[in-house]
Amino acid sequence: MPKATETVLEINLNYLEQNYKYLKSKLAPNTMFLAVVKAFAYGSDQVQIAKKITELGADYLAVAYTSEGVAIRKAGIQTPILVLHPQEVNFEEIVAYNLEPSIYSARILDQFIKYTSSINKEDYPVHLKFNTGLNRLGFLKADVPQIVQKIQETTTIKVASAFSHMAASEDLTEKEFTEQQIQKFKSISNTLDGLLCYSPIKHMCNTSGILNYPDAHFNMVRSGIGLYGFGNDAKYDVYLKPIASLKTVISQLHNLDPNQSVGYNMAYKATHKMVTATLPLGHADGIYRIYGNQKGFVFINGKKAPIVGNTCMDMIMVDVTNINCKEGDEVIVFNEVHTADALATAAGTISYELVTGISQRVNRVFIF
Ligand SMILES: *Cc1c(COP(=O)(O)O)cnc(C)c1O
Repeated sequence: MPKATETVLEINLNYLEQNYKYLKSKLAPNTMFLAVVKAFAYGSDQVQIAKKITELGADYLAVAYTSEGVAIRKAGIQTPILVLHPQEVNFEEIVAYNLEPSIYSARILDQFIKYTSSINKEDYPVHLKFNTGLNRLGFLKADVPQIVQKIQETTTIKVASAFSHMAASEDLTEKEFTEQQIQKFKSISNTLDGLLCYSPIKHMCNTSGILNYPDAHFNMVRSGIGLYGFGNDAKYDVYLKPIASLKTVISQLHNLDPNQSVGYNMAYKATHKMVTATLPLGHADGIYRIYGNQKGFVFINGKKAPIVGNTCMDMIMVDVTNINCKEGDEVIVFNEVHTADALATAAGTISYELVTGISQRVNRVFIF
């Protein structure tokens, strides 16, 4: 890869393949794989990722919002797409683009049956979401008889899958809670199958669920962060490779005398004779203010340069006093060595937030 000459997000599709194969190696041969490509495929590029992951053999895709699924269909991708969080206003597009809604409440179930009836659909695939402890979206076990009755009173929809979501699959100190969620979902699944008289796909595990709860894979697993290279535990660092590298350049160097300030509101004051580098990257690119004031850092010619002062909208300033560098030099914000996870952790957040926050104005380039 040539050195960065402006801010770019490099996406390595070979690493995506490696990550997919590693996660697949954790599954029984007939367990299906759903690739979560919401939020621009975790800040990378939903179309390129959806294409590649479909070529690799993923059975399903999932997005959060309908518009994300529409964008993938417009790129010509035919893989089944689950929309995790639809609203009534989205149903027309969902059906027009052959997307499959998550049905998470009695209200949304009634609304979807009403809509599919009004356009004379038969057996339209839907996915029933169950709440087993996250308390975010979904039906409870007690709702099953009523849901099934509504489904059996219509021919317009068919249950393609039933699923639930773990609240702390990455946190082994909460193993007992997760095991309880798994037991609840098993019990819901049995009741549902018995009443429906057929057996839809069952799925519960996200990436950390795949890695930590092999007995809870059911018929399908849903992976997002693992595909993008993070296993939520250092022991996976050798197997999962971050696919995205954020790079930029030094726009200008400044020599500061002691007590001179840097940036808005004089948030940083030079303690000695210093050199700072200004970089074309700011909170509007996804390097939020939490990374300012020496919480966050970048790497220049192999050396760590802390962010000094407040993050501006389109710029950050970093301390390069002890770094041999010049204007135009490449800067690594994160890559597979200096990971987004390490940077996020240093600022008190998580890799998910950092990578999904890289804004759309940052040019994406692909390594095939
Ligand atoms: C985002 C999401 C996932 C993916 O989780 P990862 O931890 O990124 O693997 C899976 N299932 C649901 C319901 C989600 O919202």
